[in-house]
Amino acid sequence: MVVKNLYYDALSKGYAIGAFNFSNLDVLNSIINVSEKMKCPILACVSEGAFKFMREYLDGIVKAVKQSHKNIYFHLDHGKSLDMAKKAIEKGFESVMIDGSSLSFEENVELTKNVVDFAHKFDVQVEGELGMLKGIEDEVSSNQNIYSNPDQCLEFVKRTNVDSLAVAIGTSHGAYKFDGKAKLNFNLLEKIQNRLKNFPLVLHGASSVDRQDVELFNFYHGALKNAKGVDEELLNYVATKTNIIKINTDTDLRICYLANLKKSMFDNPIEIDMRVHSKFAINCLEKKIEDKLKIFGY
Ligand SMILES: [Zn+2]
Repeated sequence: MVVKNLYYDALSKGYAIGAFNFSNLDVLNSIINVSEKMKCPILACVSEGAFKFMREYLDGIVKAVKQSHKNIYFHLDHGKSLDMAKKAIEKGFESVMIDGSSLSFEENVELTKNVVDFAHKFDVQVEGELGMLKGIEDEVSSNQNIYSNPDQCLEFVKRTNVDSLAVAIGTSHGAYKFDGKAKLNFNLLEKIQNRLKNFPLVLHGASSVDRQDVELFNFYHGALKNAKGVDEELLNYVATKTNIIKINTDTDLRICYLANLKKSMFDNPIEIDMRVHSKFAINCLEKKIEDKLKIFGY
């Protein structure tokens, strides 16, 4: 199935597809294992930074995984240029995000349209972004939150012919999302949905930053203080009751993976077989991803 069709399936059935970032084989293994176990589609996301980190062997990874795991879809996360989108498509990615959110509206339209025109020749799904998320995620950072403008969303989709749109409704990237209680602007989301009827929307910066994982991370010499994310109930509502059909998660996977890797090394101080530690962290991560997909209504 092409990714665009997946999105309309999610839209009609009321769930959101899990989009999880990876930059090493442990995390990718976890994603694949869960997809096999739950028989569900997952977007394996690669940021520009992760793209560079995995270098030329990413080619081989994509080919090998696609051969045996049809439910895994490779997605470029926060691509910043047409050149980057082309590189991802050349490697066999079936979905790309082009993030022109730091540009002017007109420049964003132009960049996104160019990517759409190229990608659609290969049946590749394109996600655009309007508005800006606060926080840091890989090479994407902003110190302010700019909400998406509903009228601009409609104009943007019409002019670019983009397949899905990431909207800024109050979430942010990274582990420090909210000072007080987590809030999302549902009023705004409704306005966007009224302009863009039955159109796939995407939520970024949606990690929950689970207290238990943060405590485990901090127990082993971590210092993540006051980290706070989006409540699971909010995420479940967004995934099942709105037009959000893809939810991005990176931070939660990072914290869970690293916390448990540290735990394994601390608990087995003479173990120098890396696979033993990896296996433990992978198992914990699988449980985390499974839980996420259930919250997303799959
Ligand atoms: Zn993002």
